[in-house]
Amino acid sequence: MTGYREAVVDLGAVYANVAHLRQVAGTPHLMAVVKANAYGHGAVPVARTALAAGADWLGVADVDEALELRAAGIDAPVLAWLHDPDADFTVAITRSITLGLSSARQLRQVAEAAAALGRVADVHLKLETGLNRNGVNEPDWAETFALAAQLEQAGRLTVTGIFSHLSNASPVDDAEAIERFERGVALAADTGLAPSLIHLASTAAALRVPAARFSMVRVGIGIYGLSPFADQTSRDLGLTPAMTLRGRVAAVRRVAAGAGVSYDYLWRAPVDGYLALVPLGYADGVPRQASGTAWVDISGHSHPLVGRIAMDQFVVSVGQERVTVGDEVVLFGNPETGVPSATDWADAAGTINYEIVTRIGRRVTRSYRNAVDGAAGGTRPGGGVRPGGGSR
Ligand SMILES: *Cc1c(COP(=O)(O)O)cnc(C)c1O
Repeated sequence: MTGYREAVVDLGAVYANVAHLRQVAGTPHLMAVVKANAYGHGAVPVARTALAAGADWLGVADVDEALELRAAGIDAPVLAWLHDPDADFTVAITRSITLGLSSARQLRQVAEAAAALGRVADVHLKLETGLNRNGVNEPDWAETFALAAQLEQAGRLTVTGIFSHLSNASPVDDAEAIERFERGVALAADTGLAPSLIHLASTAAALRVPAARFSMVRVGIGIYGLSPFADQTSRDLGLTPAMTLRGRVAAVRRVAAGAGVSYDYLWRAPVDGYLALVPLGYADGVPRQASGTAWVDISGHSHPLVGRIAMDQFVVSVGQERVTVGDEVVLFGNPETGVPSATDWADAAGTINYEIVTRIGRRVTRSYRNAVDGAAGGTRPGGGVRPGGGSR
């Protein structure tokens, strides 16, 4: 039965998306990016599914996110690339988390923690190639690589990877970044570093920019079945959206023409008709900006949201249709089944599908379908159906 507020995650779709992206990218390695609770889908079940589907690396922003994976018993390689300025890397090194580092300062911090532990830290160096977020600036490459080589020789760390990130601004901008990245990789080799993992592409470049693939791609949005492009849908890319956000009609009422709805009476009923109350609001990640523009599916019929989306609820105009308390409401899911997509909501709210799924809040129960054995935590929801064999 549909939950009150529920995000159903089809792990069979995640599995198929990872397998498809692996095949399209054709790289020796594929990193499944599961930061931010796997873009709202649940880090541990998604990570397990992605690994089962052939991903051999996991990527997160913070060390804490990597530790969550380790605590769940996931021992696959994990890269964490964004760090507190005062980070203590001791636990990360102890738990064999690979550290993406963007400065000489971080290299020294890691070396110090490794020395205290008597262990060798595993490190990927991040190069600045155009985004201007983190990454070592080109003028500092020589000095930073020399320091890394020196720390390698001292037995503190090993540089096993070099990476950067693209802005996806334009083909020309990407080509420029790739060129800069290649200069960095060559200089690292000249300095005596021998990283085997060279990675630059996220989903967009993994799909469209073969020159950016190198030895590994880092795919996030694609494994969730969403398109990073405005001009191609999930289906165009051979991907299946994994998350369905749904709930149940909490109340139905009949209103007369002229009745106002929700805060500020942004909408007034043009004619007599029925309204359905849906118990999801902006606290649950339903974007308030989509007030009056988004639509939902109730029992196979499309209905528009009317009035302001509130913190906990919104109202749908169902006209003369017979909607009943308890009926299933689908906010978004796989558009091939006739429901809106996360991208439709993004368009309605003036944002991107990444933000729609990632912001689904804590009150929304996650449930899992079509799990590979153990991927959803051993409970095998959905009957433990094998990927590809799902019937839901
Ligand atoms: C989030 C992120 C990714 C994944 O990007 P997608 O567009 O979701 O595939 C890859 N690399 C880095 C550094 C990231 O921060």
